[in-house]
Amino acid sequence: MTAAAASAGSASAGPTGAGSAPAEPATESAPAASTSPIVAGPDAAVLAHELRAGAAAVRDELVALLLALARVDAPSGGEPDALRHAEAQLVAELLDLGAEVTRHATGAGAVLEATLGPAAGEPVLVLCHYDTVWPAGTAAARPPRERDGRVHGPGTYDMRGGIVAALGAARLLGPQLRRPLRFLFTPDEETGSAASRELIVRFGSDAAAVLVTEPPLPGGALKTARKGWATYRLETAGRSAHAGIEPERGISAIEELVDALVAVRALADPAAGTTINVGVIEGGCLPNVVPDHAAATLDVRARTAAEQERVNRALAALAPVRAGASVTVTHQHGRPPMERTPQIAAAATRARELAVLLDVSLGEGPVGGTSDANFLAPLGVPVLDGLGPDGQGAHAEDEQVSIDSLVERTALIALLIAAL
Ligand SMILES: [Zn+2]
Repeated sequence: MTAAAASAGSASAGPTGAGSAPAEPATESAPAASTSPIVAGPDAAVLAHELRAGAAAVRDELVALLLALARVDAPSGGEPDALRHAEAQLVAELLDLGAEVTRHATGAGAVLEATLGPAAGEPVLVLCHYDTVWPAGTAAARPPRERDGRVHGPGTYDMRGGIVAALGAARLLGPQLRRPLRFLFTPDEETGSAASRELIVRFGSDAAAVLVTEPPLPGGALKTARKGWATYRLETAGRSAHAGIEPERGISAIEELVDALVAVRALADPAAGTTINVGVIEGGCLPNVVPDHAAATLDVRARTAAEQERVNRALAALAPVRAGASVTVTHQHGRPPMERTPQIAAAATRARELAVLLDVSLGEGPVGGTSDANFLAPLGVPVLDGLGPDGQGAHAEDEQVSIDSLVERTALIALLIAAL
């Protein structure tokens, strides 16, 4: 969407096989396939027990795959070629799982779609992003390592740990999936998902459930609400003049911008969760010139679609206060709020019941940052986000994940795929 106010007026060498199948296929004694998913009960308890043991048995393979992924750079928003190696790693893993892999080329790198299991039925979608915030060269400068029960390294927490848990889950379930399982690996989440948004919506809107393997809240709780996010460019224009000789001929775009930003500040409502950050400001050229242009970039966060729309409308209606000046507001990018819809609440309740079968106490809570789950929640899709392993240091140099949690999440994701 674009809110434009018119001028003068309105406003690895692929680690194939690293996560080899456990000695005992986890679904060996699971209930026979049926058209409806199993429910939390004796059958789910049996399956949970097997998945837990199966995940523990492949602990070393999970760690090896995570280290292998983290040895390869996957910079978001860069040249698509910069993601080729990371993409090849995933393709090798997926083919080794027996998945049918489709490559969707985008300007930001390839979106990988992979399907497993039966063709009929509502699929479960596992949504992962394989880009990281780290630029090329990071993996060589800070190679990943295992230490003290944790894997440290670039992208381990956001979200390679989640990718490894999801792939490990598919491997545990093996060929006996009772419903279609689809993976989507996107290349540009960290820079807003402009290139992959359409595919995310296409494959997510008809899913029985969407599992998003972003890092959880500290301690492992699910993220069942996320703020929305929108960025805007606010530009003002005036007329240049000599600041000493004939300032009266000038129209200051910077003064116009200052007034506009005072109005923008009044739109924030922190108590309601609506914040506006003026992150960048620019304009003018020299002290003795009345400036004819100025601009600011805004980052707007809101908990609800209603709040996001209120701010959007108000920005679109911004008008200049000086005769001859103009104010233009352009919506650049964003994601809608992920409100805790009834579908999300029900899925979280179900996930919590299933997690108990793994002796996991699964909490939930809201978070300020966005993910690709934000695109699907408003469509009424049951989205479970924050399914990646516990750790710390997202987008930070001390990034790391707990190996115990990696194993636990592998079993949990497998159980959710089978029983949600
Ligand atoms: Zn992430």
